Amino acid sequence: MTLSTRVRTIAHWVDGKGFAGASDRTSPVTNPATGQVTGELALADVADARAAIDAAAAAFPAWRDTSLAKRTQILFAFRELLNARKNELAEIITSEHGKVVSDALGEVSRGQEVVEFACGIAHLLKGGMTENASTNVDVASIRQPLGVVGIISPFNFPAMVPMWFFPIAIAAGNTVVLKPSEKDPSAALWIAELWAEAGLPAGVFNVLQGDKVAVDELLTNPKVKAISFVGSTPIAQYVYATGTQHGKRVQALGGAKNHAIVLPDADLDLAADAMVNAGFGSAGERCMAVSACVAVGPIADELVGKIADRAKGLKTGDGTRDADMGPLVTKAHRDRVASYVDAGEADGATIVVDGRGISVDGESDGFWLGPTLIDHVTPEMSVYTDEIFGPVLSVVRVDSYDEALALINANPYGNGTAIFTNDGGAARRFQNEVEVGMIGINVPIPVPTAYYSFGGWKSSLFGDTHAHGTEGVHFFTRGKVVTTRWLDPSHGGINLGFPQNS
Ligand code: NAD
Repeated sequence: MTLSTRVRTIAHWVDGKGFAGASDRTSPVTNPATGQVTGELALADVADARAAIDAAAAAFPAWRDTSLAKRTQILFAFRELLNARKNELAEIITSEHGKVVSDALGEVSRGQEVVEFACGIAHLLKGGMTENASTNVDVASIRQPLGVVGIISPFNFPAMVPMWFFPIAIAAGNTVVLKPSEKDPSAALWIAELWAEAGLPAGVFNVLQGDKVAVDELLTNPKVKAISFVGSTPIAQYVYATGTQHGKRVQALGGAKNHAIVLPDADLDLAADAMVNAGFGSAGERCMAVSACVAVGPIADELVGKIADRAKGLKTGDGTRDADMGPLVTKAHRDRVASYVDAGEADGATIVVDGRGISVDGESDGFWLGPTLIDHVTPEMSVYTDEIFGPVLSVVRVDSYDEALALINANPYGNGTAIFTNDGGAARRFQNEVEVGMIGINVPIPVPTAYYSFGGWKSSLFGDTHAHGTEGVHFFTRGKVVTTRWLDPSHGGINLGFPQNS
């Protein structure tokens, strides 16, 4: 088979079926483990984007009036299908993202938890009611869906991040246009087919493939009522500003630079295991990855030694085979991440474990970078200041807890952070003082469970609503208050007794 015959065309899903669109712009999709182009992605033009938005708008009136019982039934069916076939989705993720299949399965499971949360939508949408607020006057509060909502997602979690939003949006009665990343667009189409199989009416869930053109139409089209965005901070800021300027409700989750403090009393083996998992898992392409380990006091040498031993034991390779860590998503991204290691070295940091130039058996064209551990990093170095989004863990040495805390609080990002200690008082103080949205205490990647809400502070989130949990329900609904007066029948209108012949 020649390469060209293996290249698939990947397009949109609109109104319950595949949609080719009219645009002739495309972009290549690659398998990061082999470097080969496996797909040609259709990039929507404005007319294609409008077709997806129009389909969602047309489906909204019937979907919002579909009973909660019926909507819940479809969600349960989707959950069952997903649970039974999650391996298929994991394989698709690995083939376009590169993460190892166990990581891909983990991402699907975390997304599934939000589907399970949304199965309880009937309970979550219950309103309030006050009888006789005034004589014969009752007041009730209800929550109603918004209409068409846009979801714009990043490359690093092609299934989980959309699932932070669409299960709740759909359960609450909205219709959805999902714009996945151009780098790994196929997971969204698989999910769309699964929804159809679960009985979701056509037009309720649509997939729009594309780039800035598609995003801009979602941000400005008056039929779109809300935007949930996840991606890098500059784009999150742009999405928030543009979407709100066009009267939309927007939650825009941005980038991260997550620190983990290791106090002198911590269990260093536990901390080293955690640093390796959180620093190199999914090749560091996680918004909750730890990229700065802040070693407090005299433990730094021992901690660095323990992390280095573990990092050297990790096997980098094709995610479908026996590997701990896969490739980076694209060649350009791999080169960018490696350039930060070069810069750290030039700035005088110590490269303890060097992932540059790693060779992986038989896959020389893959986008490889092995686990990289850099010690003696200082706060002005670019390897510290920038979000790198790769398997690069920096160690910053400080003398005290206060110095470690000040470092984190001075950072422009505030997504996740962790502290490793056996001192409950120190942990408690940290949880109170640190200016970050999600905190782990002896837990390196503190991603909240689906019934809590996910979101960072500062430049890691624009808007005031976090993802999923009750904040997600709030985001995808709006409140209405109904004040009712019914006069008592004795007032003279209706006879409540038996009908009488008169
Ligand atoms: P990205 O910002 O490049 O892309 C995100 C989305 O925005 C994609 O769908 C992309 O097509 C679109 N986009 C890109 N450029 C655009 C432009 N100029 N105008 C309009 N839309 C545009 O992010 P990425 O590289 O796909 O993902 C990695 C980033 O996402 C990292 O910064 C990571 O920290 C962040 N992230 C954050 C969270 C979180 O919860 N805070 C979760 C996952 C990823």
